[in-house]
Amino acid sequence: MLLRLRPSLIRAQVEAVLDLAQRLGYTPRFVDERRTLLELLGPGAPEHRAQFEDLCGVSQVLEVGTARELHERNGRPDLAVDVGPARFGGGAISLVAGPCAVEDYDRLLEIARAVQARGATALRGGAWKPRTSPYSFQGMKHAGLELLERVRTETGLAIVTEVLDPRDVEAVGESADMFQIGARSMTNFALLTEVGKTRKPVLLKRSYSATVREFLLAAEYILAEGNEQVVLCERGVRGFDSSITRNLLDVGAVAHLKRATHLPVVVDPSHAAGRGDLVRALARAGLAAGADGLMIEVHTDPSEAHSDGAQAILPETFAEIARDAQVLAGLDGRTLRTGRVLKYG
Ligand code: PEP
Ligand code: MN
Repeated sequence: MLLRLRPSLIRAQVEAVLDLAQRLGYTPRFVDERRTLLELLGPGAPEHRAQFEDLCGVSQVLEVGTARELHERNGRPDLAVDVGPARFGGGAISLVAGPCAVEDYDRLLEIARAVQARGATALRGGAWKPRTSPYSFQGMKHAGLELLERVRTETGLAIVTEVLDPRDVEAVGESADMFQIGARSMTNFALLTEVGKTRKPVLLKRSYSATVREFLLAAEYILAEGNEQVVLCERGVRGFDSSITRNLLDVGAVAHLKRATHLPVVVDPSHAAGRGDLVRALARAGLAAGADGLMIEVHTDPSEAHSDGAQAILPETFAEIARDAQVLAGLDGRTLRTGRVLKYG
């Protein structure tokens, strides 16, 4: 490992770095005369990097040597994560679609059938909704899980649904095929640890205010517990002009993540756009940047949606996105996974 130390450190700060190095089993050696570059020869465990970064004397870890973190690609091929009929990564693209929230059985089944006929292999829908106001619709909770299960039995679609509280991981895990960790929960480390203890795929959404490094370290919490089935989801970060789009879709981050990690990356154009009329364009941009899938809010009557109606698209628009996905997948030799033959219109 190679550390850059801050210039003009007091002796105690240098000693703190050397002490930690010694305790972790490294042999330290200053590389330059100014004693700002410190090479550490030793074990190189993934968790050591963050321990050195925590010291106030260390300005940067320049090179990790063999101390690889679990999310790093490190020469590995793309990981493919299977969720029922859906596959994310490893050359496969899949579409997750459905309402923002589970509302009632008939509506959920109607939407599920509509998106499945148009190319979706997984159904999304929140039984628990993280809302800005405690007075807004909070979701149907356990009753919502039951409806999701019934619709899975009816259609065969995989179920992706959000878990908000570590105490609900067991119950949600019994119903869902994939946990969704929402943007607001990205730094709920107790929740990340709890889903990390399961062996069920996790769709981890990036917080709207997280750097890419913070996003990857949130994934690291899950991986560190032994759950390797992590799919990253870019859903837009806070921009400076929310009068146009609700968030700013960070396509640069998508392209970067595809290089930096072997984990699949999914784009959610719905929460990035905040408006239905821009969802298709952002979905195209996400796939062009290398995303392994899309998660899209679809409703058969957006004006009736209990939450996020403004960004919900009709099944007809979803069909156009599925067709785009098929074309874009073909550009670089990937395939769009669909449960059945795509029907347009
Ligand atoms: C959602 O997917 O409905 C949701 C709440 O998304 P986010 O956590 O990205 O805001
Ligand atoms: Mn939503």
